[in-house]
Amino acid sequence: MKTFHLVSLGCPKNLVDSEVVFGQLEYNGWQGVEQPENANLLVVNTCGFIQSAVEESIEEIFQLAVYKQQDPRKKLAVIGCLVQRYMKRLESEIPEVDLFVGTEGVKDIHFSLNQLFRDDDFEKTVIPEPFLMTAAMPRRLSTPFFRAWLKITEGCNNHCSYCLIPGIRGRLRSRSIEDLVAEAKKLEAQGVKEVSLVAQDLTAYGMDVYHARRLVELLEQLLARTAISWIRLMYLYPSGINDQLLDLVSQQPRIVPYLDIPLQHVSDHILKDMNRRYGYGDVVQLIDKLRNKLPNIALRTTFLLGFPGETDADVQQLVDFIEAVQFDHLGVFSYANEEGCPAEKFNDQIPEEVKQARLETVLDVQSKISARKLQKYVGTVESVIIEGLSRETDLLLEGRTRYQAPEIDGCVLINEGNASPGDILDVEITEAHMYDLVGRIV
Ligand code: SF4
Repeated sequence: MKTFHLVSLGCPKNLVDSEVVFGQLEYNGWQGVEQPENANLLVVNTCGFIQSAVEESIEEIFQLAVYKQQDPRKKLAVIGCLVQRYMKRLESEIPEVDLFVGTEGVKDIHFSLNQLFRDDDFEKTVIPEPFLMTAAMPRRLSTPFFRAWLKITEGCNNHCSYCLIPGIRGRLRSRSIEDLVAEAKKLEAQGVKEVSLVAQDLTAYGMDVYHARRLVELLEQLLARTAISWIRLMYLYPSGINDQLLDLVSQQPRIVPYLDIPLQHVSDHILKDMNRRYGYGDVVQLIDKLRNKLPNIALRTTFLLGFPGETDADVQQLVDFIEAVQFDHLGVFSYANEEGCPAEKFNDQIPEEVKQARLETVLDVQSKISARKLQKYVGTVESVIIEGLSRETDLLLEGRTRYQAPEIDGCVLINEGNASPGDILDVEITEAHMYDLVGRIV
C-alpha cells in the first residue's frame, strides 16, 4: 500500500493546497497515515514568507528526515512556499530531501511523487508554471466537516514593500465564479455550514479575469445557489472595500457580520513607505462608513510594528487610533527585514528590542479593549456553531459566535446543554472573559 504522511504549515491558503495534495494522492491510490513511521512517503507543505516561518519549515523537515534515516526506503518531499522562494538552493542545503516541488506543483503532485519510487534519474527541484485549483480537483478537508476555507484567488498584485508573497505566489489569479460556486456546492454536500473566503486580498477578486472587482457578484451567486449558513470574509484590503460590498453584508444575514481588514498601520508616511494605497484619512472614513452601515459588525485587523522609519509618535498615533476604534479582534506582528523585500534596503531599521516593546504596548492596549467589548454579549442570545468538546476540558462544549472566526479568535465555552459538532444553535451568553465567552444552550 502506498502510504504518505503530510504536514501542512503556514496560512489557510497553504492549507487548502495541502488538502488538494491529499485529495490528489488519495485519488491516485495513495493512503494518508497519521504516523510518519507508517508512511513510505513523507511530505511537508512549507511556509516561507518570513524568517520565522522558514525556520519552522526547516525544523519540520529535519524532524521527518529522522524517520528516513531510520528506514532509508522512505522518501522525503518538500513542497510549497519555501521551495518557491529558495528553489534549487535548497538541494545543497538540505540533501536529506529527495524532491522539492514549488507552490504550483499541486496540480500534478502525484506524478512528481510517483517518480520518486520509480525512476532514479529525475529533476530534484520541480518549479511548474502557475496554475489555479478548480472544483474538479479532489480535495480532502483537514478542517472539521462543518467548516472549510474557500480560496478564491492565488497570488497578489499589491506589492507591499515588506511582503515577499507576490514574488512567491505570483500575480493575482482569480478562479471563475462558476468554479467557486461548484466548489461551494461540493463543500455543502459534504456537510459544510461555514465557509470562510480567503485570498491574499479578497477585494481584488476578479480584477484579472473580469477586469473589475467581482467579490459582490461572487457572494450573490454563493448566496443564491447554495444554502451554506455562514459565509465569512477574511483578508479584505482596506481601499478595495466599496459600498456595494458593505450594503450586501448589511442585507444578507448569511454573510456573518464579521470583517477582517488588515490595516498594517495608520501613519501616513509609514503607509506610503509600505506601498499601501491608503492613508490615515481614508482609514478613518472607512471605519466611520462601516460603523454607520454595519453597527454590530465585528472588526478584525492586523498591524505591523517596527517598520523602518517608525517613530514613537507613529506608535502613539496607532495606539490612539486603536483606542478610538475599539476593534473586536486584533493581530500584531513585528516587521521582519526579509532578504529580497523592497523595504530590506530602507534606512532607519528599528532595533528588535524596540519592535518587541512596541508590540507589547499595542497588545496590552488591545487586551483591555477586548475584555471590555466582550461584556456587551453578556445576557444576549447568540447564534453559535458547535466545534465540539472544549480543548480545555471534556466537561464543556466549545463553539463560536458569528463574531468569532475559526482558529484565530476566541470561542464560547458552553457549560449547559448538549449539542453535536456543526450544530448552529442559540446560546445565552452568561459570562465574558478577556478573549472568550461562556454560555448555556437555550
Ligand atoms: S496585500 Fe500586500 S501584504 Fe498582502 S499578500 Fe499582497 S503584497 Fe503581501
